[in-house]
Amino acid sequence: MGLPRCSPAHPRNFLPQLSSPEAPVDARILIAQPDYARQLRPLLPASAFAPDRSTLTVLGLNVSILMLGWAMARQLNISHWQGLILFLPFALVMGNAVVVLLFGTHDLMHSKAIRQPQLRRVVELLGLALLWMPPTLWKAVHNREHHGKTNSEQDPDRNYTFNQPQSWGKRIQNLFVPSVEVQPFWLYLGMTSAWGVHAFRNLTSVLLFNNGSTRYPVFSFQVSAKERRQIAIELAAVVMIHLAIIGLVGLRPVPLLLGYFLPIWIGYSIVIAYIYTNHMACQITDINDPLINSISLKMPGIFDTLHFNFSYHTEHHIFPGMNPDYYPHVRALLLEHYPKRFNLLGARQAWQLLMQTPRHYLDATTFASSCGSINQPCPLSVDPAPGTGV
Ligand SMILES: [Zn+2]
Repeated sequence: MGLPRCSPAHPRNFLPQLSSPEAPVDARILIAQPDYARQLRPLLPASAFAPDRSTLTVLGLNVSILMLGWAMARQLNISHWQGLILFLPFALVMGNAVVVLLFGTHDLMHSKAIRQPQLRRVVELLGLALLWMPPTLWKAVHNREHHGKTNSEQDPDRNYTFNQPQSWGKRIQNLFVPSVEVQPFWLYLGMTSAWGVHAFRNLTSVLLFNNGSTRYPVFSFQVSAKERRQIAIELAAVVMIHLAIIGLVGLRPVPLLLGYFLPIWIGYSIVIAYIYTNHMACQITDINDPLINSISLKMPGIFDTLHFNFSYHTEHHIFPGMNPDYYPHVRALLLEHYPKRFNLLGARQAWQLLMQTPRHYLDATTFASSCGSINQPCPLSVDPAPGTGV
């Protein structure tokens, strides 16, 4: 990539210089998420906020696809190589089903579409089981911590800061996440595994310690004793579900690889490709301003149809419980009222931005590489124009 990389020649105590001491964070007037919501809600139809139960049907369909795939995988045999090749496109469809399960369950857990508590619990558990994510942990890490404190110092989903102590969590993140210093091998491996690392980091932190001071997560948050018990019970249920799937596929290498692992790797890769673009190229914000700390993508319509408009991420952070079918209305309003604040990028453009910048925060608006040899202002914060209000 032609840029200097970290090497043992760089001393650990190397102090990087701020490339933009007049970083524009103060020049921007940050607007809090509830203020956007208050301004935009009257401009949207009431139906946008009505519970959408159709997500449940789509989830059921995708569980059926997975069950069919696991049953087919059971029949796979290494001596019938044509069958293995014919199965590969179906593994892709199964991988997409894993994506749909996460994104659809994510939407349901923000909404009030399922009111019966028992049904809600079952759907949440089945929806997140393939992601190794107990629903109670998801409510804490995503709904409460991430949405409440998006890309602030307290957000467990942000980039690590340069000054955070070295830990296995920080080292793995540095190896896996797209940045100017990432190596292709680790980037590709990370696509299949970074989601698992995220789940493992947060799970172990709350289950084993829950003291708010573990150093390996990006930010260590705590859960209540009741939530912790619930997370442990749900994790046991998730393990049972995975054992049941493995039992269905059979303990033979080829069916396991193509029917169990491959769809999960494909699903995790697609999921994390979206997630990497959500906030990681943005500055840190102390006030939760979704137009400054989030990115929305312009995706081909087929992906938006398949993935519940997950690319409308800024819109989602303004109205997390909204029916995602209405996000294009929110986008039109944001383009009309806040054109200079809104980070709306093509998928390729967002990815290039990640690959051209370091991935640790030196300060709120400056990125630094792992050893500090490269530092760069956050590219989305260089235009201080605050845009217009509604
Ligand atoms: Zn969300």
